[in-house]
Amino acid sequence: TAPELIRNFCIIAHIDHGKSTLADRMLQLTGVVEPRAMRAQYLDRMDIERERGITIKSQAVRMPWQLGDQAHALNMIDTPGHVDFTYEVSRSLAACEGAVLLVDAAQGIEAQTLANLYLAMENDLEIIPVLNKIDLPAAQPEKYAEELANLVGGDPDDVLKVSGKTGAGVEALLDRIVERIPAPVGDADAPARAMIFDSVYDTYRGVVTYVRVIDGSLSPRERIVMMSTRATHELLEIGVISPDPIVTKGLGVGEVGYLITGVKDVRQSKVGDTVTNAGKPATESLGGYSEPKPMVFSGLYPVDGSDYPALRDALDKLKLNDAALNYEPETSVALGFGFRVGFLGLLHLEIVRERLEREFDLDLISTAPNVVYDVTLDDGTEVKVTNPSEFPGGKIKEVREPVVRATILAPSEFVGTVMGLCNDRRGQMDGMDYLSEDRVELRFTLPLAEIVFDFFDQLKSRTRGYASLDYEPQGDQAADLVKVDILLQGDQVDAFSAIVHREKAYDYGVMMTAKLKEIIPRQQFEVPIQAAVGARVIARETVRAMRKDVLAKCYGGDISRKRKLLEKQKEGKKRMKNIGSVEVPKDAFIAALSSD
Ligand code: GDP
Ligand code: MG
Repeated sequence: TAPELIRNFCIIAHIDHGKSTLADRMLQLTGVVEPRAMRAQYLDRMDIERERGITIKSQAVRMPWQLGDQAHALNMIDTPGHVDFTYEVSRSLAACEGAVLLVDAAQGIEAQTLANLYLAMENDLEIIPVLNKIDLPAAQPEKYAEELANLVGGDPDDVLKVSGKTGAGVEALLDRIVERIPAPVGDADAPARAMIFDSVYDTYRGVVTYVRVIDGSLSPRERIVMMSTRATHELLEIGVISPDPIVTKGLGVGEVGYLITGVKDVRQSKVGDTVTNAGKPATESLGGYSEPKPMVFSGLYPVDGSDYPALRDALDKLKLNDAALNYEPETSVALGFGFRVGFLGLLHLEIVRERLEREFDLDLISTAPNVVYDVTLDDGTEVKVTNPSEFPGGKIKEVREPVVRATILAPSEFVGTVMGLCNDRRGQMDGMDYLSEDRVELRFTLPLAEIVFDFFDQLKSRTRGYASLDYEPQGDQAADLVKVDILLQGDQVDAFSAIVHREKAYDYGVMMTAKLKEIIPRQQFEVPIQAAVGARVIARETVRAMRKDVLAKCYGGDISRKRKLLEKQKEGKKRMKNIGSVEVPKDAFIAALSSD
């Protein structure tokens, strides 16, 4: 297709505002999916996505659309809808010239709408504001059209009103996309440069790589180069998705499609990388490429220690289709053999954990998630800490922690509440704007560690569910952080070490010792549970000694009963962990880690 007839766009929306449903209607109206083949949320292919109603992996679909006497090709690029995948979102946006900004007409603008809008504006995309769900009785299209127009500039009358459910207004939206979104421009004669905006592992075909061609063209069977690694591959297949793969003779300027090279690992086909021809390579890559960087770490352990090899195999398999997944073996005194796993964020963690449990049938326990700390010692040595129990004990000059730029949207009555919460979480306010009389946008810089710890739940419960949150990484900053250790009779229980702000160390110590006291069974002797910062004990509880031996109850006589008891004890011992001389059932640690 000639570039003048191509339109590349994405839909940006807050979760549940109807992106997938609208995409379904577009697929139907353009004739790409036949009515009888239609099922809800056609593009959300993974089971977990469908069940959770979120889109993890972006995909691109080509749809024909006639306007006047011209046949156009619309490429709809689906963007992942969650903060953890900001980088992937930004690459998907970079593959487009325009964005449909979709807002639920009964809800109005939400934080995720704004965060994605800012990303789209940074990429200079043409924005088409659209209100969705106008069929809902609770819809207030006039009110929110005003809000949207204020935000993106322009006339409220210009805001399109559609219903993804009934299909109302969707044809007009497709026309508007052709009219307003600029056609792609590129140099057809230059060496090929195509940007990878997604790469997905497929069991049968190996890695399927989604690209947007900027300059030149790619043809089947030629050799291509991944510019970040200089690795070359043969192009086995190239084509477009509509909505199933259709092999083509190549992809030219402005086109969006997929390619297959036979590689088996998404790490060989990285999002953000530039693809060029091996025969006539481009000298400069497209820019904007960066390695996925794990932001949140957690220890993952099999509940049953003998599942360790199965867990390792499962992680090796998942890694093939998740370039952001990082892990290395780790042992814990309390939990045995497992892995320290790095994730993009909390949702990524939940998804991986759920896939491990569901697709690989593993029973897992994870330690409390933590961020990555950069520690500089007095002698200038720098240490990256991904596991709190490895926080250095020596003289520390500085500790740096990752921070995020958070956007929170809330009804104006909750401004004080939101500010209070962010203040408690060491946030720094960067600004505040009224979107309308009753809705406020607040911007904060917050330590990621504070968000990882139940921030979202707190925000929701304190604003009766009305506030929404989005955030993106914003580098790091120095903070007064200390490691709190938990000791059982003087021995450290590694899984419970935490890095916290100095002012919160005491609270953490009191909370954790109290919790463990509830869970740890009585021993033959008294067991002190302590929380300590370095050598200084900041909190203490005691598990009292058992009063009597279990056997004392059965006086001499009943031998068989005595034997039964001893056997029972022996069996229990297998599941015991020794922390020094203290025996603790593994279940107790699991309970302590999973309750809060
Ligand atoms: P996404 O999270 O943005 O992809 O949103 P979905 O497309 O999954 O839609 C979220 C919910 O809103 C689903 O229950 C849809 O059935 C519903 N929904 C989507 N569009 C409309 C609409 O135009 N009208 C009505 N009444 N409901 C809609
Ligand atoms: Mg969706």
